[in-house]
Amino acid sequence: MRSQMVPLLCSMLVLTGCSRSNHVGAIVAAPANKQICINNLRVIEKAVLRFKIEHKKLDTDPVTLQDLSLYITNRMVCPSSGSLTMEDSYAVTDCQTLPTCISAGGGPSHGHVLK
Ligand SMILES: [Zn+2]
Repeated sequence: MRSQMVPLLCSMLVLTGCSRSNHVGAIVAAPANKQICINNLRVIEKAVLRFKIEHKKLDTDPVTLQDLSLYITNRMVCPSSGSLTMEDSYAVTDCQTLPTCISAGGGPSHGHVLK
């Protein structure tokens, strides 16, 4: 009996959470999305560093998101992007430049930036 109740309670919490977030979504979503995006940027930054070290790259050597696929196991997207591809959310240039959010709903103008 108890094992059947736990999934049911979890489902109820999820449903309650969804209806709540719709109610106050405009106020709460933006800061949360910003923080998630900044966390993603940190993961990408660390992946660039690992790529640089393991491949003995110079600071000025170029890097692509494809190069980082070995180091990023989860496909990351900016939660403000509305897209499912990492390429629509993030850009990397070389081994010394911080990754940037390039999503339409995010980007530096919305605070989606590493400092
Ligand atoms: Zn973003």
